[in-house]
Amino acid sequence: MRAETLKRAVVAFALALPGVAIATVVAAPPAHADGCYTWKRNLYQGRSGDDVRQLQIRVAGWAGTRDIVENDGRYGPKTAAAVKRFQSAYGLKADGVAGPQTYTKLYALQDNDCTPRHFSYSELDNGCGLGGWSGGPLSATKTKANALRTMWKLEALRRDLGDKPVLVTSGFRSKECNQQVGGAADSQHLYGTAADLVPQDSSLCDAARAARDHGFSGIYGPGYPDHDDHVHVDSRRENNSDQTSNTTVWSAPDCGIGAGSD
Ligand SMILES: [Zn+2]
Repeated sequence: MRAETLKRAVVAFALALPGVAIATVVAAPPAHADGCYTWKRNLYQGRSGDDVRQLQIRVAGWAGTRDIVENDGRYGPKTAAAVKRFQSAYGLKADGVAGPQTYTKLYALQDNDCTPRHFSYSELDNGCGLGGWSGGPLSATKTKANALRTMWKLEALRRDLGDKPVLVTSGFRSKECNQQVGGAADSQHLYGTAADLVPQDSSLCDAARAARDHGFSGIYGPGYPDHDDHVHVDSRRENNSDQTSNTTVWSAPDCGIGAGSD
């Protein structure tokens, strides 16, 4: 009698298990509430919205060679491909679907102010030591948003270089600062879309070559005048506020990166 009761109890427990599991899945809270941004649904091709736009900012550095991820809030093939590359780079299942695993990794990578772990606003806004985001052709808000996109691309580049530190020696510059340092008249630095880099544990050429895979449409490095001590990267192709055309321009002749544009 006692044995029978026990047996029944075990069976009942076993039967209850799947139910428990299902209830847990249905009632699951978001994987992680994040100080910067929390995604509330899975994202995949065909979806659109601000949550897609937020995702695009963070995977823009995984655009693939000579390509960019539009920040348009529409999850198309390019966004899916970028998510896949992001997933591969961090050892996740590369299915091109942004779900709990991908979000958990993004939460781990982003600080509460939404900057990626290894770069900060203060590193990008140090132009001539003034700080801040004003004094350029765009509003401070727009400039800062551009700098955030720049940083997520840098985070991808850094990952590609084997997680070796990359120092930003110049990011945003006000018009005044840009003039002071002798920057080009319509320099991408004015818009928050550029960064001058000095990799700490890899060569300038390694950084210049890798930058081609991480959403940077402007690259100048060794062999290009005045670029033997740093690599300049920018996002001129996405910049619709500047006066230059939306093309890719790369030149680092000493690194085998051709002069000219396409
Ligand atoms: Zn530069």
